[in-house]
Amino acid sequence: MNIALFGGTFDPIHRGHVVVARAAAAKFKLKQVWFVPADLPPHKLKTPVTSFYHRYAMVALALAGEKDFVPSLLEAPDPDADSRKRKPSYSIETVRRVKASLGKSDHLYFLIGMDAFKDIAKWYKAGELLAQCDFIVAARPGYSLVDVASSLPEKLRPAPAVTKLFRKEKLAGPLVLPGETLHMLPETHENVSASQIRAALDRGAALKRLVPDSVAEYIQKEQLYRSPKARKGGIASQSGGS
Ligand code: ATP
Repeated sequence: MNIALFGGTFDPIHRGHVVVARAAAAKFKLKQVWFVPADLPPHKLKTPVTSFYHRYAMVALALAGEKDFVPSLLEAPDPDADSRKRKPSYSIETVRRVKASLGKSDHLYFLIGMDAFKDIAKWYKAGELLAQCDFIVAARPGYSLVDVASSLPEKLRPAPAVTKLFRKEKLAGPLVLPGETLHMLPETHENVSASQIRAALDRGAALKRLVPDSVAEYIQKEQLYRSPKARKGGIASQSGGS
């Protein structure tokens, strides 16, 4: 069976995440997509991130009606570990664990948006990660998929002549390189991001269907993403999906 891991901060999960997963599932015949919120996203160690438990709860709520999408605890905090010694959630470690549990006929994909893929060369053990599973790189407004090849770590990057050919062929098929395959998902154009949602909530704006209604309700109940000033003013009541 084809399975994709879809890792992220999901702070909060939004319509863009779900639409991308649906498009990938349809195009690559994915039986399951596992949404994996990271406890400590390695690229956000210096940025305040909402507690894992809130982010996981919102992922679970958003996926309630999606039978093939699984909210995953693979990168949940270890309840027995000293919270001051938490480790960043490295994708390669998650992928290794998942692969060890899969059967011979299972095929593992790693679903990622182009904004994240453009930094892949800086990821921990990027070469091994790329070798361990096929990547599906999704388009994202503001980021071009033609830059996929040039985003690879230098050692894995194809010769400029190959990259040029790839650009000319307008991303028709996968980019197959020795030891790795990169699939493209140019179909999605959801102009939504979690940072845009956090900023909107902080200024007291409505979410206008950027997140599923159940997630909007949760954000409202838990008073997430609001500055103390906004909380006092009762802005929470504007966050509904309608
Ligand atoms: P932030 O704005 O805080 O950086 P985000 O919206 O990018 O957050 P993440 O949780 O960081 O959300 O993203 C998880 C994964 O989903 C990443 O691979 C990211 O590229 C992808 N992704 C998020 N939003 C979209 C979108 N609208 N279209 C395509 N891919 C997306």
